[in-house]
Amino acid sequence: MIKDYQSQKELRDLYDFCIVGGGPAGITLALRLAGYGWSVVLLEGGEHNYSQRSQSLYKCSSSGLNVYLEETRLRFLGGTSNHWAGRCRPFQQSDFAVPPPGDLPGWPIEFSEIERHLPAAMAILDLPLDSGFKTINGAMDSEFEADRFLLSPPTRFAQKYARDLEETEGLDVFINCNCVDLEFDNTTSRIAAVVVSDYDLRRERARAKHFILATGAVENARQLLNSESLVAGGVVSRDGFVGSCFMEHLNVEMGTFILMEGQDPEPRQYFTTDAFVMEHKSGKGNVSTALLSEVKSYGRMAEVKTFLETLSCDIGIAHKIDYIAKFNCPGDGVITTMIEQFPNRKSRLSFLEERDGLGMGKVNINWELSLQDRHTIKTIGMEMAKCFVEAGLGYVKLSEGVYDVSQPLKMTPHAHHMGTTRMASTPEFGVVDQNCKVFGTDNLYMAGSSVFATGGASNPTMPIVQLTLRLAEHLNHQMSSAVAANS
Ligand SMILES: Cc1cc2nc3c(=O)[nH]c(=O)nc-3n(C[C@H](O)[C@H](O)[C@H](O)COP(=O)(O)OP(=O)(O)OC[C@H]3O[C@@H](n4cnc5c(N)ncnc54)[C@H](O)[C@@H]3O)c2cc1C
Repeated sequence: MIKDYQSQKELRDLYDFCIVGGGPAGITLALRLAGYGWSVVLLEGGEHNYSQRSQSLYKCSSSGLNVYLEETRLRFLGGTSNHWAGRCRPFQQSDFAVPPPGDLPGWPIEFSEIERHLPAAMAILDLPLDSGFKTINGAMDSEFEADRFLLSPPTRFAQKYARDLEETEGLDVFINCNCVDLEFDNTTSRIAAVVVSDYDLRRERARAKHFILATGAVENARQLLNSESLVAGGVVSRDGFVGSCFMEHLNVEMGTFILMEGQDPEPRQYFTTDAFVMEHKSGKGNVSTALLSEVKSYGRMAEVKTFLETLSCDIGIAHKIDYIAKFNCPGDGVITTMIEQFPNRKSRLSFLEERDGLGMGKVNINWELSLQDRHTIKTIGMEMAKCFVEAGLGYVKLSEGVYDVSQPLKMTPHAHHMGTTRMASTPEFGVVDQNCKVFGTDNLYMAGSSVFATGGASNPTMPIVQLTLRLAEHLNHQMSSAVAANS
């Protein structure tokens, strides 16, 4: 049953599981656990629809590259699935087998651990099970294979599962119910309760045997950083791993291309092969090429651009004309990417003294690109340009920042936030263990892309759902064993 916590303070005394956050991860987990027969409460801070009073709680400052954290997250039931685009690409064996460069390890679990949940995740995301992941073009040399992906309708979790959230036995869903603190008991190493608040600052403790945070990668880390009892208990250090290793996927403006005469003008999508990654010691990446329209304006347009560039220098308005001269016109081919970023301790959330409207500490995000990331971008750009011409497809003009790493890069993030409570074998290298349990606690778990040890160049939502199904299976097993032991 879905209840409005603003007017219905009807939490039970004790649940088996308390899940915070009603996005794809939280909704998937709640329905699975309740389906196994456990009592579950799902706490969602927002309403049924967008509201400014909820969304404004996502405000945070930034000291590095702009990662647009306010614009790229939605704080209401269904979470960011209310405006996701639905592109799904599975993780590969190599994502789990090959560690990132540097001193941080990769995933501490086998690929098979997530792969076995793929069919169920595909069903949840309304992907056709029998068609495999499709390609829209062929490979390019041994360096780039055709990218494989499927498009979800896209699944809007709150709408698709509205009835299940209302009717599933054992499940209570509260909207307008904000988690504002985690109460850690140092003597038992357990979370005793989460503190919830409505929008009139009325607070109450929600009690459960197990707690799972599913509030997205930024808020999952923020919840841990905000909890004074976790900090006092030594579980969380505010300058330690929690919040660090924030990763995105990089949409780099690679440059432009001109299609060779007679080539198919349809968009293409390539993906780096494992051989490419091994040879160049780089990250992975998708490269997409598309003509802005089928109007061929190469030739005359180039003349116009050259004329404007020269004129602008002559009369001293270069910066204004530069905008026009470099503007992509119909007929230009544009190259965009989704490139892997490696985990880097300096890309991190920091906890601030400043409070939000519900009294929670705010965070600052410092998002950086490392030299290793610039190497990945440069290598993919240069090799792609070479392969493109060798395959007889066309000619590529790379942007300066791609091949000259001393120049600024034109780039935007993909709204894929990852890595802030990374999974590792030991607390030396991460925040959660192989079962997504926070190191140093006995009953606190993380669901979502905050646990990604590396992010590859695959869209995160399907792997989030796969990992969530794995977590549900683990929690069910844990609880069943505990019940059996006590009976
Ligand atoms: C424009 C856009 C396009 C995208 N396209 C794609 C795509 O094509 N493919 C892909 O794989 N991914 C895509 N994504 C990313 C995708 O939306 C996320 O990976 C996914 O939504 C993450 O799910 P989640 O459940 O972990 O977190 P979220 O969806 O962020 O859900 C978190 C939930 O927690 C709630 N919450 C937060 N704080 C609290 C609190 N204190 N108390 C209670 N509740 C709280 C929020 O209200 C929200 O409901 C896109 C994102 C954007 C912005």
